[in-house]
This record gives sequence, C-alpha cells and structure tokens, in this order.
Amino acid sequence: MPTTVVWFHNDLRVHDNDALSAACARGAVVGLYVWAPDELGDRSPGAAYRWWLHHALAGLHSALRECRVPLVFRRAERAKLAVEQVVAATGADAVFWNKRYDPAVKRRDEQLAGALRQRGIWVEEYPGFLLHEPSNFTTTDGRPYRVFTPFWRRFSGVVPPAPRPRPRAETEPSHVPGGDELASWGLLPKIPWDSAFYSNWDPTEEGAAQLLGEFVRARLGAYSKERDVLGGEGTSRLSPYLAHGQLSPRQVWHRVQEADQQPAVKQAFLRQLIWREFAYHVLSEQPSLHEISLRPEFESFPWKELPQDTLRRWQRGQTGIPVIDAAMRQLWSTGWMHNRARMIVASWLTKNLQGDWRLGERWFWDTLVDADPANNPFGWQWVAGCGADAAPYWRVFQPVRQSVKFDPDGRYVRQWVPELAALPAEYLHCPWTAPKSVLDRAGVVLGKTYPLPMVDPDESRNSALAAFQVWRSGQAGF
Ligand SMILES: Cc1cc2nc3c(=O)[nH]c(=O)nc-3n(C[C@H](O)[C@H](O)[C@H](O)COP(=O)(O)OP(=O)(O)OC[C@H]3O[C@@H](n4cnc5c(N)ncnc54)[C@H](O)[C@@H]3O)c2cc1C
Repeated sequence: MPTTVVWFHNDLRVHDNDALSAACARGAVVGLYVWAPDELGDRSPGAAYRWWLHHALAGLHSALRECRVPLVFRRAERAKLAVEQVVAATGADAVFWNKRYDPAVKRRDEQLAGALRQRGIWVEEYPGFLLHEPSNFTTTDGRPYRVFTPFWRRFSGVVPPAPRPRPRAETEPSHVPGGDELASWGLLPKIPWDSAFYSNWDPTEEGAAQLLGEFVRARLGAYSKERDVLGGEGTSRLSPYLAHGQLSPRQVWHRVQEADQQPAVKQAFLRQLIWREFAYHVLSEQPSLHEISLRPEFESFPWKELPQDTLRRWQRGQTGIPVIDAAMRQLWSTGWMHNRARMIVASWLTKNLQGDWRLGERWFWDTLVDADPANNPFGWQWVAGCGADAAPYWRVFQPVRQSVKFDPDGRYVRQWVPELAALPAEYLHCPWTAPKSVLDRAGVVLGKTYPLPMVDPDESRNSALAAFQVWRSGQAGF
C-alpha cells in the first residue's frame, strides 16, 4: 500500500482535515510538522503563538494515534530539506497538505511542490483553512472584493462543504523516521509568564470542539447583543483555534447553521466569520498587507516617531487611560483581546499618539495567541484608516466614551486594572476627573499608584485630526 506524508502547518486537527482524510483513504500515512522559524524571517511566530503551538502540536500528536498516523517533528533551517528527507525515509510517493495563504509560507510551498513533482512525487494541496477559495469569489470585473457588504451578500448565500469526520489510515506505515522531541524546540517560555494562559485556554482540538459546542448552546443567542460588552463572555473566543487550524471555518459555519436559533441570530455571528474570509481575500491580492498601506497615499502619511517610553507605556498598559490599560494588560496576560478593545487601543496608538499602524501590528503579532497574517494587518489598517473598507482616519475612538458605553459597570477595567477597582463607576473610566476625596477613599494616587493620562484624549484627537487635514490638503485627488 502506498505511503503519503501529510505536512501539517496551521491545520492542527484530525477532524475536517481534507489532506489527512485523502491520505488515510489511500494507505499508510506519516504526519510531519516542520519547525523552521528562521525561514519566516521577521514573520516568525511570536511568543504567545509559540506557547499555543506547543500545546496544539502535543494534542495533535496524541489525536493522530486514533487515526493510525504517527507525527514526526523536525526542526530545520529550510522546511524543504526536512520534507524531502522524510519523503525519502518513508518511501512515500505522495505529499499532501492543506493550502496555506500566509505569504511568508506560500512561496516556499509553491517552490517545494514544484521540486517534489519534478521527482515524480504526487503533491496535492487541499482547501479547508477558508470557507471558499479567494479566486472563486471575485467582483464582476474579476478582482478581489475591497468592500465588505457586497462580499458578505455574495458570500452568505453559498453553503460550504460539510465537515469531514476523523479518518483512520488504511494501514500503519512500514517505517517511521526519527524526529525531534517537541520540548527541544523551546516553544514554551523559559521565564514562566504564561500562568494565566493555562487558566484561560485549553489549546487542543478537544478544547476547540468543547468551546464551539458551549458557545452555540449557551451564548450564540445573545451574541449580537453582547458581542461588544468588554467584560463579558459575549464573543466565542474561537479565534486562536481558527488561527492554528484546530477548528475549520466549515465546522463553525455548519455548527452555527444547525443551531436552534432565528436566522438573524446566526447571521450576526457568521458575518464576523466572513470578515476573516474577507481579510484573506484582501491578503491574496496584497501579500505585503503587514508592510504596505492598502490605500497607497497613506505611505506618505507623517506618522510620528514615537519615543521608546511612549510605545512601552502603550504596550504595558500604563497609558493612564483605564480601558486601554485594561485591554493591553488582558493581551499581555492571556494572549487575547476583545475585538472592541482591539479597535480602541489601535485607534489610540494610530490617532491619539499618531504612531504608525505597523508598530501596533508588530506588537500584536508578538503577543496574540491568535496572531493571524490576514486578520491582524487587516484589522490594524482598518482602524488606521488606510485599509480595505476602513474606518476613515477622522473616526477616532474616544476611549472614555467607549469605556462608559461598553463597560458600563466597569467590570473589565476593575478586572485588569485592579489598582482602580475601588473607584465608583462614575470615575473609573476617567480617574483624572475624580475629586481628591474620591481618589483618597479608593486608595488611588494619580501619578503614583496609577499614571496620569499620557496625553489628553480630546486634545490629542484634535491634533491628530489637524495633522490629518494638513497632510490631506497636500494629497492630489483626496
Ligand atoms: C487591530 C486589530 C487586530 C486584530 N488582529 C487579529 C488577529 O491577529 N487574529 C484574529 O483572528 N483576529 C484579529 N482581529 C479581529 C478580531 O478582533 C478577532 O478575530 C476577535 O476579537 C476574536 O475573538 P472571538 O473569536 O471571540 O470573535 P467572535 O466575535 O466570536 O467572532 C468569530 C470569529 O470571526 C472572526 N472575526 C471576528 N471579528 C473579526 C474581524 N474584525 N476581522 C476578521 N475576523 C474576525 C474570527 O475568526 C473570530 O474568531 C483583529 C482586529 C483588530 C481591530
């Protein structure tokens, strides 16, 4: 019976895995995961993503046993070499993988596929990371969509293929080549900063299935009402599982469609899932999404050189604006941040501080467990005003108003900025406006126990808008 190598990347699941199912159906299968961070240059995964990856791979290793598929770990400078070595050692006549869209790996995959085919190896790439291939969804003039609403209208009516069950290989491979111990890759931190990660996440495929089931059963019904509430459990928190491929969007789509809920309730959630799809469509047209503004005129925008200390205060949640500090600390502590909070902190960096969106994208890339090559630069460009269907530059999120509206009882701020917890809700969102007696009672000394705002939200908004106007007046055709 023939042997197939299945090369895993961001499809770390056994259910609804097209490459794995196809390989299992034809004979013996050897799974392979190659860790080649150097090859990815400055887009190699950040520390939070690596933490998740370690556990996802450990989970995949044991889940694959049920499929009769051994998983080999290989560290390499170049993935190509490792794949070729494992193909030779197993005597495999085929290599299957699920298609990846990250530009950092796409070119590599294309070259490797060419080299393997030249040697008579059957190479097949399968869909599954997205609901539909970007090339199948274009505007009437054959271009990728740049505006979300028509994309959503077109997309929402097309039913993706049903998810596949977990497969079992026809037979065991006759030879399994040696590999590395996962622990030897050092994906887990040496300094234990990750304790809150463990209490927040079960980073396995089982954890993904459980969370999806629980979300659809208990929280989908209230999603559209609760999704913007910062301190609650209103959203699914499925993003890291989707980023690492422990869940396929097809599984999510069908599970939601099967729920006993009104169509409008399901649509509200699926619409968000389609934003992910939209970001990938945009990435397929602009592979340098993390480097270049989609609106080219923004490449001459005079972003300010932020002093190291300014950037650091934003990164560490010491801006003096409670909702921003809560969000940045949530990110640091758990590797995840609520979507509305992502918009608020991105607006603060790119508008109130006039910092380049690429600085924020980079920080998120390093600290998010769901760091995603499409969603992350797409989200940053969207907030900064230079992206696809983006919020205009002059839309500046007023953080205090956002905090009052989306964290009215202050639960979010109290959780992540405990030094302000004793303040009454009235002043919690803007402690600098509180009378001294209120601050004293709450044990808050501004500038000592909690910082004063690094810049005034309204003044900095006005100066950002003024800078924008000056720049815009110099732009032809704006
Ligand atoms: C500045 C910024 C950076 C971002 N960086 C990332 C990132 O690196 N990785 C990432 O997965 N998402 C990113 N997002 C999008 C969004 O914030 C997260 O997907 C969402 O917060 C994840 O939480 P959830 O799974 O509970 O979302 P839910 O509300 O439950 O949504 C379900 C799924 O839909 C998708 N989704 C939801 N909102 C968006 C959106 N605005 N854009 C694209 N897809 C969306 C996600 O896959 C999400 O898991 C970013 C947004 C912004 C504004």
